[in-house]
Amino acid sequence: MTYRAPVSEMLFALRHVAGLDAVLGDDLTADDARTILEEAARVADGVIAPLNRAGDRHGTPLRDGAVTTAPGWREAYRTWIDGGWNGLSADPDHGGQGLPLLLNAACTEMWNGASIAFGLCPLLTAGGIEALAQHGSEDLKARYLGKLVSGEWTATMNLTEPQAGSDLALLRSRAEPVGDGRYRIVGAKIYITYGEHDLADNIVHLVLARLKDAPAGTRGISLFLVPKVLPDGTLNDLRCSGIEHKLGIHGSPTCSMAFGDDGGAIGWLIGEENRGLACMFTMMNAARLGVGLQGVGIAERATQGALAYARERRQGRAPGAQGTSAIVEHADVQRMLLTMKAYTAAARGICYLTAAALDAARGAEGQAAHDRASLLTPVAKAFSTDIANEVTSLGVQVHGGMGFVEETGAAQHMRDARILGIYEGTNGIQAIDLVTRKLPLRDGATVRAQLASLRRVAEGLLKDADPAYGHMGARLRAGIEALDRATSFQLRALASNRPETALPGATPYLRLFGLVQGAACLAQGARAARAALQAGDTDPGHAGRIALARFFAENELTAAAGLADTVMDGGAFTETAALALVG
Ligand SMILES: Cc1cc2nc3c(=O)[nH]c(=O)nc-3n(C[C@H](O)[C@H](O)[C@H](O)COP(=O)(O)OP(=O)(O)OC[C@H]3O[C@@H](n4cnc5c(N)ncnc54)[C@H](O)[C@@H]3O)c2cc1C
Repeated sequence: MTYRAPVSEMLFALRHVAGLDAVLGDDLTADDARTILEEAARVADGVIAPLNRAGDRHGTPLRDGAVTTAPGWREAYRTWIDGGWNGLSADPDHGGQGLPLLLNAACTEMWNGASIAFGLCPLLTAGGIEALAQHGSEDLKARYLGKLVSGEWTATMNLTEPQAGSDLALLRSRAEPVGDGRYRIVGAKIYITYGEHDLADNIVHLVLARLKDAPAGTRGISLFLVPKVLPDGTLNDLRCSGIEHKLGIHGSPTCSMAFGDDGGAIGWLIGEENRGLACMFTMMNAARLGVGLQGVGIAERATQGALAYARERRQGRAPGAQGTSAIVEHADVQRMLLTMKAYTAAARGICYLTAAALDAARGAEGQAAHDRASLLTPVAKAFSTDIANEVTSLGVQVHGGMGFVEETGAAQHMRDARILGIYEGTNGIQAIDLVTRKLPLRDGATVRAQLASLRRVAEGLLKDADPAYGHMGARLRAGIEALDRATSFQLRALASNRPETALPGATPYLRLFGLVQGAACLAQGARAARAALQAGDTDPGHAGRIALARFFAENELTAAAGLADTVMDGGAFTETAALALVG
């Protein structure tokens, strides 16, 4: 079983959960949106997905300084950029198509459902485009943006060093001005995704380094553009010094990079000196939503594989059945499949909502939408990738022993998904970001506005009073109250300068947020499906959307109250951790 992009489900979520209709008009109609998604699906399903296994087996060997991707990958990348997919939502001034980020989010989900290892390369290029477009000089933009937007060249993000992972204040790479606007960069970076490869003629590295006499810590870090091939066509003083052997995403090279073996790699400053981290955050925010979408993509793929297997495999007899049953008939297997499907759809809703907020931030809504996107980004990243790990693991479980051996692909999905909670800021760091930086936005008004939007969904459910909803309305209302209690607790702790009270509950708080927000996305979809059915729409998917939202509310959202208790009362472990972790 390979991958089929769920175009109808995506369109439904885009329109009824994330509000795509608000940006539709003469320039982009609903039919255009469908055509774009169908065309993207053709490339994802037919060109990229079949290469996923080959990438896993082949890896990305490094020989004589050159890194090669698996057979077929170069051609697939060429087909992909020739289709204009890299610049789908990039600025038309730089050769992009200027379409909503929301549509690009759905396409990003597809590339990564087809192959995370493949989708990762453009994801980093997208972050590079964003950082350069927002902070680069006109000269740098003119020289690099066109080829990055077309995908002819790719970008990397060079932050991590052996001693500096989550804590970039410890970064040691150095930069020195040459005197003509250029800088010489010297340092060693590790874990650099697509730091070297054979998909493009040039690789544009965005590198964090310190200038001499820069202030210590994160205030002394600058961002440089350091191309593999210099504008005069000569090779820069940088190389891939090693390739990591890793648990998953074998198709994508993870490189150690050496800058300046021969005196210093030539680079150009992006933004201001010592303000590099702010520029890099532009890149990381775009990339964080992208990683969330990687989670949705692989969860979808794992769900499709598990469902197909469960329909084929026959074992045991379900209550009331004659003879052996397909395992999909067993309640416990149904529980696993519904859990996989519901979490995938919930995470999709959250990621699309985040992309919609980013679109709205570019338009009339401005700052409020920007703040909403900032609030949702860590949830989109961490919740979607946590559930990707859970869903892919359930995918192995549905397959039984066949899941543990490599034949079905279920094991590869689980191995590939494992990185998602680690890179682009670990999920622990996302939770800290959500609680300490995002909740206090506008003195809590941003999160309060989000809670109000959730309440409107719950009120709508209760007003409909449709028996098909079961306990969905009541469960959603209770979940929102739990999130409200935990939010107030965290805001109080921060306002009284007690981070030691807020931080122990950061990860359960993020989970609670994702759970309730995800349930609201599904519920909103259920309401739209109900309205469509009442209007005579015969789409067979509508009844399933209502059933899935109900399943999630009645079986998963019930954890909300417990999570709120953990946020508010669980922090006492920090007093006794030293005792329990002794030895
Ligand atoms: C396959 C792969 C690809 C990657 N691609 C790139 C790339 O392209 N560019 C790049 O620059 N980097 C890349 N990375 C690096 C990645 O971003 C880091 O691994 C990640 O940021 C974590 O850093 P670390 O590995 O040093 O872990 P550490 O920072 O040592 O963290 C270890 C654990 O401690 C926790 N922790 C750390 N600090 C805190 C804190 N203050 N509070 C609470 N918990 C904390 C973390 O959450 C984690 O659970 C990649 C890594 C991998 C494995």
